[in-house]
Amino acid sequence: MVPFTGFRVREEEMLALGMTLPGLAHRAAAVAQLPALGLLTLAGLTPPHWTCSYHEADHASASLADEIARQHPTLVALSALTASVEEAYRFSGLLRGRGMRVVIGGLHVTTCPEEAGRYCDAVVIGEGEPVWPAVLADAEAGELRPVYRASAPFDLARAPVPRFDLLGRGPRPRLTVQTQRGCPLACEFCGASRLLGPHRLKPVANLKRELAAITAQVPRPVLELADDNTFAGGRNSHELLETLAAADARYFTEVDWRVGEDPGLLAGLAASGCVQVLIGIESLVFRHPGMGPKQAELPRIMTAIDAIQSAGVAVIGCFIVGCDGETFDSLDRLAAFIEASSLADVQLTLQTPFPGTPLRRRLEREGRLLPGRGWSHCTLFDLTFRPDLMGIEEMELAFRDLARRVFSPAQSVRRQAIRKRVWHNNPRLRPCASEPSSSS
Ligand code: SF4
Repeated sequence: MVPFTGFRVREEEMLALGMTLPGLAHRAAAVAQLPALGLLTLAGLTPPHWTCSYHEADHASASLADEIARQHPTLVALSALTASVEEAYRFSGLLRGRGMRVVIGGLHVTTCPEEAGRYCDAVVIGEGEPVWPAVLADAEAGELRPVYRASAPFDLARAPVPRFDLLGRGPRPRLTVQTQRGCPLACEFCGASRLLGPHRLKPVANLKRELAAITAQVPRPVLELADDNTFAGGRNSHELLETLAAADARYFTEVDWRVGEDPGLLAGLAASGCVQVLIGIESLVFRHPGMGPKQAELPRIMTAIDAIQSAGVAVIGCFIVGCDGETFDSLDRLAAFIEASSLADVQLTLQTPFPGTPLRRRLEREGRLLPGRGWSHCTLFDLTFRPDLMGIEEMELAFRDLARRVFSPAQSVRRQAIRKRVWHNNPRLRPCASEPSSSS
């Protein structure tokens, strides 16, 4: 099992900036250290007569290919996001050159299976779980097929406990648990919400088993819920909160602002161990199609966010920069808004047209995708399309200036003080109210 992980930036000045601004660097480090839940879950579905090993990679390393070759594996499974997929293809070439067979899966290759098929022996389109037994059986028989595609969405009640034991005993700041797959909304820019099938909830009985496996390994763990939008879609939130509370974990997750308008949910959120949520405020200038009930006026969103923070849960406000209508003025207004806001933390990314999204299809139709800026530029920090009202270099420069302003030492200290105040109200963090995780 080889996931391609890590934080990537192509543009040199942005890379240099990312390494010096503490807010960016801390979040990048946290993301880079998250285990790859998809492959660990497939390892959990692997029959006992197989042995599995897990190797994280951030580039196509010949020494890692040699190390894996020494194990004489029947099959090597790769996963990669768009920004790292070219490295994964290069690595597949190194493995195949050493006589190994390679299967690849994940969101990116689900949208580009023909491309992936040029570099790997087999491609899994969509969810891996339904086809994994067939992939392994065919690999054992030496009859790997070029494409595997599930005929129906995976029933999450059949989800195995991920093989966290494969991670070894090294330090892991956060482990991951998925409580649901997909999202009932369909924001234009979002690649995660629908590509792997419809929105589904994982039954609480499965979650209890997964949490028990984690707490047996790490008491009082710090978790990142690998959900696209926890609590969206009619879940019995009390049952979920009680299950999480019983694990005695502290956790981070992604939600939408409507959580702040649900008093029942807010009442139990912090006590369940939730310390931080990421909320997409998205753009102040453009209303992306598909946002459904998430689309609202900014004052209403900020009132909801204040309610979440009053309940002891810090909010990372996430903004997409460079959408249609963006200008130097709008970016100046965005910076001023963030500088004066009550947000405990901030995430800024450049709008990125990931494959398979309506956004990419729209920009492609409009002839606005930049030639020469391929998948490795889909980092969220590199510009890959032509903005409608600004030049390419103007947008790149303005994004760096915005990042410098928003993640300045003074702003980072101000937000640190907000987090301290918020966490003072969190029963899981009182009385220390210290930083529970490595965000900005
Ligand atoms: S709410 Fe979040 S997860 Fe759901 S579609 Fe929008 S961006 Fe994707």
